[in-house]
Amino acid sequence: MDMQTSSLLDRLFSAGLLIDTGVDGLYGRSGAFEDVITRFERLIDRFGGDDNPEAIRFPPGMNRAHFEGSGYMKSFPQLAGTIHSFCGCELDHVNLLQCMTDGEDWTTEQKATDIVLTPAACYPLYPTIAKRGALPAGGGLFDLQSYCFRHEPSKDPARMQLFRMREYVRMGKPADVMAFREDWMQRGTKLMEQVGLPVEIDVANDPFFGRAGKMYKNNQRSQNLKFELLIPINSVASPTACMSFNYHQDHFGKTWDLKTEDDETAHTACVGFGLERIALALFHHHGLDSGEWPETVRQALWG
Ligand code: 5GP
Ligand code: ZN
Repeated sequence: MDMQTSSLLDRLFSAGLLIDTGVDGLYGRSGAFEDVITRFERLIDRFGGDDNPEAIRFPPGMNRAHFEGSGYMKSFPQLAGTIHSFCGCELDHVNLLQCMTDGEDWTTEQKATDIVLTPAACYPLYPTIAKRGALPAGGGLFDLQSYCFRHEPSKDPARMQLFRMREYVRMGKPADVMAFREDWMQRGTKLMEQVGLPVEIDVANDPFFGRAGKMYKNNQRSQNLKFELLIPINSVASPTACMSFNYHQDHFGKTWDLKTEDDETAHTACVGFGLERIALALFHHHGLDSGEWPETVRQALWG
């Protein structure tokens, strides 16, 4: 980690925009920080709302069976977070308290619950929609937002362990789903221009785990399955992915038996906004006091 990223985090703490909890990547947010995110989400609505997506909000934990079915553990076991709880008897409780008193590891007896922390806002959606039956004519379009968890502690404020993702998800025929993704790459660029942020779009590769991960990575790149919209968040590090544009082909369609109106396996794509990263990009480019931002930017967000 370089000096620049550490000082950005320190400056955010000093300005009170982020609040230290003692854990890297787990922060409180000030009212001013939240206001930027709220306003930015209203701007997203202005770009995406006319398409009449169905809005759904899931909590930041998802059904463990749905998580298991999604295949996430094949690709990113290192990032997943499971929720464990105490399920013992009174004697177990006495032992647990003794363990805590002795400064020993009291967590080893915690048992997995039916809930797993949501790794990306769209994961709970696919099984939910598949359960409704075949998609209507023209497919489906959904508007999601959720806190997401990824276990990657870091002093870089652009890499949080708990952060929010706003997403639009398209389900249907391959051509419609790909056109949706293409369209959002242009919309995303225009949207960021309105708030004075410089962007570039590039093919991306996810941090797939282990040796098998190399194959997934090559596949993702060679088939252009993922693009990212990158914005500089601090002066020295390379630009950071603030949006991603993912084409899952028939992966979720096959996994959840999601069908189009003509009984074909549905294809899916999602467009994700990393809300905290976008807020950080705005603070980096326009200053830590949002009241002092350029008039055009204030107009786009508060106008
Ligand atoms: P993806 O599923 O493509 O990895 O993530 C979707 C979006 O969430 C990314 O484009 C990025 O903006 C945001 N994101 C991914 N990882 C992190 C992270 O560690 N911290 C924050 N704040 N945002 C992230
Ligand atoms: Zn998604």
